[in-house]
Amino acid sequence: MSLDEVKEQPQAIDALTRALKAGQVHHAWLFQGPDGVGKELTALGLAQAMTCPVKPNVGCGTCASCQKIAKRNHPDVTWVMPEEEFVSRGLAARSDFAGTPSRDIRIEQIRKLQERLAFRALEAPYKLALIVTAHAMNPPAQNALLKTLEEPPKDTILVLISSATDKLLPTIRSRCAKASFGPLSPQFIAQHLMAKKKVEPALAEQIAAMSAGSLSRALELNPKALAHRKELIEQFEALVPGDARGWLALAETMGADRQTAEDALEILQTWNHDVALAQVGGTGLVNVDLQALAVSAGAKVSHANLHRRTVLIDEARNAITQRNGAARLQLERMLVEMFAS
Ligand SMILES: [Zn+2]
Repeated sequence: MSLDEVKEQPQAIDALTRALKAGQVHHAWLFQGPDGVGKELTALGLAQAMTCPVKPNVGCGTCASCQKIAKRNHPDVTWVMPEEEFVSRGLAARSDFAGTPSRDIRIEQIRKLQERLAFRALEAPYKLALIVTAHAMNPPAQNALLKTLEEPPKDTILVLISSATDKLLPTIRSRCAKASFGPLSPQFIAQHLMAKKKVEPALAEQIAAMSAGSLSRALELNPKALAHRKELIEQFEALVPGDARGWLALAETMGADRQTAEDALEILQTWNHDVALAQVGGTGLVNVDLQALAVSAGAKVSHANLHRRTVLIDEARNAITQRNGAARLQLERMLVEMFAS
């Protein structure tokens, strides 16, 4: 794997390869764009390019140094992410952490990184820090990192990877060179599913259309998940004002646990977008198989109400993910707000 191989993100790759060729790689980068479109892969490629002894500034992908980076065990490349992310990726065990693994990147993690960066590189000409889901840094962590961005240690490159850059301090954003990543094309995703996952062409196309340009999301969408999505949307559209029993039943299904709730809210938000698109006669719906339902749903709801739903879904999602709100309770509240008035 080298930077050249990330063909689907020409804008970001051009910016990086130009900097590499000129020997002027900025000390801090912000890789911005949706989840699952290659930001982390590109960060890995950049780390290889900066440290590879075989093909300097390019990365060969096969030498010992490049392989260590790919396996996340190069001593000069430090990965920072929320503890929970380490656990969910199998890079750490739950028992490795004193308390419940954190969903934030905490100031202690940034301090540890800073201690590491204060020493010189061990094997490579550079030290790299790759901060995955950088927006998960809580405010004290962001403030601590700001110091490193203002007075970067020698031979250090920081890469902040984020799909929600609005949650980063403006002072952090302004100190980073930017590389922007866009959604991947449905054709690329469908091809990938067929070639690498042996998915049937028709199903691959449907999944690609529903993935919103995110390969990671596409890989999570199996036939069972697709059926579940359809059921959820149909159940949501069957809700009527005044039928409290219906809302509560849906909140119970959607709110079984936090992950289920987050997934369900994601589905509903995408659906909302589809309904809005159907209202103006647009095409390119994410839920391609539910075009007719989107049209009839769009005829039943006002534009203002649709907008309100979007806001309510975002509020519920924030309450569940950021404030540890009880999933089912938040969903009940959201549905009551949508349908009681
Ligand atoms: Zn190499």
